[in-house]
Amino acid sequence: MKIVDILNRQGVSVSFEVFPPKKDSDFSQARQVVTEIASLSPSFLSVTFGAGGGTSKSTAQIAELIQRCGVPALAHLTCVSSTRDEVSGVLEDLKSRGIQNVLALRGDIPPGMEFPSPRQYRYAKELVRQIKSSGDFCIGAACYPEGHVECEHKEDDIDHLKEKVDCGCDFLTTQMFFDNNIFYNFLYRVLAKGIRVPVAAGIMPVTSSKQIRRICALSGTALPPRFLAIVDKFSDNSKAMKQAGIAYATEQIIDLVANGVKAIHVYAMNKPDVARKIMENISDILSDGQKGLD
Ligand code: FAD
Repeated sequence: MKIVDILNRQGVSVSFEVFPPKKDSDFSQARQVVTEIASLSPSFLSVTFGAGGGTSKSTAQIAELIQRCGVPALAHLTCVSSTRDEVSGVLEDLKSRGIQNVLALRGDIPPGMEFPSPRQYRYAKELVRQIKSSGDFCIGAACYPEGHVECEHKEDDIDHLKEKVDCGCDFLTTQMFFDNNIFYNFLYRVLAKGIRVPVAAGIMPVTSSKQIRRICALSGTALPPRFLAIVDKFSDNSKAMKQAGIAYATEQIIDLVANGVKAIHVYAMNKPDVARKIMENISDILSDGQKGLD
């Protein structure tokens, strides 16, 4: 099933992101994670792709496993370190496994890499074009409510986003954010630019305070005072941090749904217990959204 058809249905979609195992020996653990999260009946599951290309096979394997669990899969694909032939090979592999949905990404520029390299990709839109001409894929792309770190002016970033969408994107998924007003403001600017594809809101339940400040500094994600207070207070108590992080993410989702947002994508970080708790917390909210549907 195509993700865009899921996102265009009435009612709220909730999806989760998982990452593939780094080593073949970790595959059985990844299988367990996927099976458990799939049993929560999410709208779809997405699976990340290493910017260095090292995990391309495992991304496809995990995507296939997700679909065997009866859940539509979205395979991420980055291009910054690949040749066009390598990307074609990955697309053929995905097709042969029955994967119809691809999240087209440039990927972060690896340190020390010559960029842009003359024969390779510069922006994700080039990958979007290639996927579009490679078959009947449903194509998603990334977007950044707070602006992408490499782009000095937010308005330019949205212009670039419009170009990317016009190359053939069917939907967008946002970078994580911790202040819903930033997302609402972004949606307003996206619509004003004439971008009409569905936008899924990326929510990260922060369950460990260790890396979050560094990750947010690198990605340009703002930490609102209310969220920072939680991180500061519970950084030494992992159980409390997890509970507070899940509660914060739940509140964000409830506010989004209450304000008419129909697509929620949760960065589940391979934690089935966190995904389960979030689903439990919003189960009545989701069934309220189904009222009147057949
Ligand atoms: P692009 O859309 O190409 O944008 C990159 C930069 O180029 C932006 O600053 C943009 O404004 C600028 N730009 C675009 N077009 C132009 C133009 N014509 N002129 C000038 N500047 C331009 N990374 C991974 O390695 N693996 C993953 O699985 C993964 N999954 C992700 C999922 C989501 C939902 C998100 C939000 C990010 C994900 N990333 C992943 C991270 C992503 O690869 C990085 O953020 C990367 O730096 C940018 O990728 P992009 O596809 O957004 O690039």
